[in-house]
Amino acid sequence: MKTKLTKFLALAITTITLGIFTTSVSASTTFVDFQTISGSRSSDSFGWGYSYDIGYFDDAIQVDVDVLLTGIATTLEHRGIWENGFEDIWSVDATRFGVAMNFNLDWVTSDSDLIVNVIQSGGGNLSTWPIEQNWGPTHYGAFAAHELGHQLGLFDEYSGGAVDLDHSERLNSGGLMHTLDGGTLDYYYDDFLSWHTLNVVPEPSSFFLLGYAGIALVLRRTRS
Ligand SMILES: [Zn+2]
Repeated sequence: MKTKLTKFLALAITTITLGIFTTSVSASTTFVDFQTISGSRSSDSFGWGYSYDIGYFDDAIQVDVDVLLTGIATTLEHRGIWENGFEDIWSVDATRFGVAMNFNLDWVTSDSDLIVNVIQSGGGNLSTWPIEQNWGPTHYGAFAAHELGHQLGLFDEYSGGAVDLDHSERLNSGGLMHTLDGGTLDYYYDDFLSWHTLNVVPEPSSFFLLGYAGIALVLRRTRS
């Protein structure tokens, strides 16, 4: 009798546990609409405002920057190089941080995050983009990825740039904000991952895992 009662109690607990987890699964978040994140950065004589949209859908963090081009005309091909440079260099699949992140650059004619003045040649910055950038054609895409890094709130990582005075170790980092030959470094994504932790609840699969762990524990106790 005692064993049967224990088994009954175990079943009852399991049922309740499953009930709780079923509720959690149905309430889990798989869609968070775009929110605008904005702020300002300063470093000695440098200062700029930044803004972008961030949301969660299609199993990925989605980061969207809307850019309005002014100044001299650009070709569709050149805009494509800038766009692909930003999107390819910044986007990551789930293997790097456990969650995928898609970065998207849209060319807009109003309601932009950033207005860029296009010039023919020379050096550039966040709001001035030369068509013939000093680093040459092989770095045109990386140039857009670097400048839009500032639009995402990042500092420069080379001496003489708009460096982060609170993080003096982030100098000559070898990353994209130091050199156009560099890729994105892990801490570049800190703000997006923090946003994800705050705004997107764990995937349903982790609830199921927890649920099974709970059942296993109950069964084990019943047997012993
Ligand atoms: Zn820069």
